Amino acid sequence: MAELLVVGSVALDTVETPFGNAQEVLGGSATFFSYSASFFTPVRLVATVGQDFPEPHVKLLRDRGVDVGGLHVASGRTFRWTGAYGYDLNEAKTLDTQLNVFADFRPALDDTQSRTPYLFLANIDPELQLDVLRQMRTRPRLVALDTMNFWIKGKREPLLRVLREVDVVTINDGEARQLAEEPNLVKAARKIAALGPRTVVVKRGEYGALLLDDGGFFVVPAYPLEAIFDPTGAGDTFAGGFMGYLAFRDQTDAATVRRAMVYGSVMASFTVEDFSLNRLTRLDAREIDQRYAEFEVLMRLERG
Ligand code: AMP
Repeated sequence: MAELLVVGSVALDTVETPFGNAQEVLGGSATFFSYSASFFTPVRLVATVGQDFPEPHVKLLRDRGVDVGGLHVASGRTFRWTGAYGYDLNEAKTLDTQLNVFADFRPALDDTQSRTPYLFLANIDPELQLDVLRQMRTRPRLVALDTMNFWIKGKREPLLRVLREVDVVTINDGEARQLAEEPNLVKAARKIAALGPRTVVVKRGEYGALLLDDGGFFVVPAYPLEAIFDPTGAGDTFAGGFMGYLAFRDQTDAATVRRAMVYGSVMASFTVEDFSLNRLTRLDAREIDQRYAEFEVLMRLERG
C-alpha cells in the first residue's frame, strides 16, 4: 500500500439538476477525489479554503482518514462553483466560478508530502499543478492530472506544459475534444497521448470510460443506474477510485490499470446517487466489493 497526494479545489458548490438543487454544499475536485481514494489507500490533501469554510466539512475528510495537514486556511472566501444540468446529465453548464482564495494560493509542500509516491493533480489552475509537481523531491511512481474547459480555454499554455510531464490524464469526453481540437474521440485520445501522458482516460458519463495506453484501447461501461440525482463530482470520484486502487496495489501494470478503471467506475456510480458527497458518506467497503462484482458480470463475454 502506498500513499497518494492530491492538489485540487475544495469548494462550496451550488448545483441545479432536473431533480433538485443544492446551495453552497461541500464540493471541489480534491474533495471528491480524496474522499473516494480514502477507501483504498492513505491520502494527503493539499488545497486552500477561506475562513468561511465550515469546520464540519474538514471533520468529514479527517474522519475518513484523509490527512488534511495540507489544507491551508487563508483570509478570504472559499472557492465557489455554480453549475446546472439539463436532462442530459453528461454536461455541466458552469454558471459562475469564483476562485477567491485560489487566486493567490501558493502551496508549500513539506518533506513528507514532497516524497509521496503517487500524485494526483486534480482539476485546478495548471500553474498550480505545475508548481506542486516541481516541488516533488522524489519523482512519484505515477503522476496523473485532470482538467476542464475553464482551464483548457483560459490557461492552455501552462496546461500543455504540465501535460508533458505527467503519466496519466483523466478528462471528460467534451473536454478531450476541446483539448485535442478533434471531434473524433479515438483520434482525440491519441492526440492527447502525443502531448505527453502515456495513459489517457476519457470519462464519458453514462457511456462509461475509455482507456488508451501502450496496450491499446479498453472500455468500461457505466453502472446502469435508474436514479441519478447529481453528476457533480463523478469525474473526481472516478479518479479517486482509479488512483486509490493503483496506489493501494502499488502497481501500474496493464491488468492493474484495467481493474482500476472498474474501481473508478464503481466509485463514480455511488456519487451520482445523491448531491454533494452525501452518498459517499453512507458508503462502506462491502458495497464497493458488491458493485465491483456486478461490473464483472456486466463486462463478461463468452464466445458462442
Ligand atoms: P466533476 O467531477 O468534473 O463533476 O467536478 C466537479 C467539481 O469541480 C465541483 O465540485 C467543483 O467545485 C469543481 N470545479 C468546478 N470548476 C472548477 C475549476 N475551474 N477549477 C477547479 N475545480 C472546479
